[in-house]
Amino acid sequence: MLPKYKRILLKLSGESLMGEKSYGIDARIIAQYAKDISQIADLGVQVAIVIGGGNIYRGMDEKETGIERATGDYMGMLATVINGMALQSGLEKIGLFTRLQSAIKMEQIAEPYIRRRAIRHLEKGRIVIFGAGTGNPYFTTDTAASLRAIEIEADVILKGTRVDGIYTADPEKDKTARRYNVISFDEVYRNNLNVMDMTAFTLCHENKLPIIVFDMNQPGNLLKVVSGEEVGTLVK
Ligand code: UDP
Repeated sequence: MLPKYKRILLKLSGESLMGEKSYGIDARIIAQYAKDISQIADLGVQVAIVIGGGNIYRGMDEKETGIERATGDYMGMLATVINGMALQSGLEKIGLFTRLQSAIKMEQIAEPYIRRRAIRHLEKGRIVIFGAGTGNPYFTTDTAASLRAIEIEADVILKGTRVDGIYTADPEKDKTARRYNVISFDEVYRNNLNVMDMTAFTLCHENKLPIIVFDMNQPGNLLKVVSGEEVGTLVK
């Protein structure tokens, strides 16, 4: 079967790595993600991944943490590297070749982020995980995902979440909420829908990079998405 996309950027949230736990990393989720990723890599899809850190640390909320915003944000970025290492280990366990690149230098555990090198890895069939977000405080890993996707000229961002797409309203609060199959960037702005934070979303819009929001915790969904099946919501 011919995949619909040649090169994708998969955004995984830190929170989804928790599975049923309230903190940290659930080994079963890592194993499921690794298997799902291997299915698309087997098709020849080039896979880059940006992973969040919310399961370990979120810097944003200074009041709650008592740690100044910028410092907390750096801590959050370090959390994404921990998740990146866990995912890398899960992928290698099942025989995939990977590289972890970090936006903050830590040479003992990850390559520094070098765009051309990342592209070279992808061309060789290695899965590239981008850790440490953008390397800058006051940003999110969604913005890192948009930025890296544009830089490596990915065909699409696949935002794997725990919900199965974008809804007209919050489906947990509003029973009449329905899911969009396809929606335009303008419609998302107009209806004030929450897909990504504005910085990340605008980057995609300005660079005409489509986004698919889908439920990554449903095994096999990633394969369906890259096969062109109507799963989740496509923003274009
Ligand atoms: N972060 C940052 N700059 C970045 C990416 C992330 O400062 O470029 C920090 C920020 O504090 C954020 C935390 O890292 O709260 C974890 O990332 P995020 O909340 O985006 O992870 P997710 O929600 O996907 O788990």
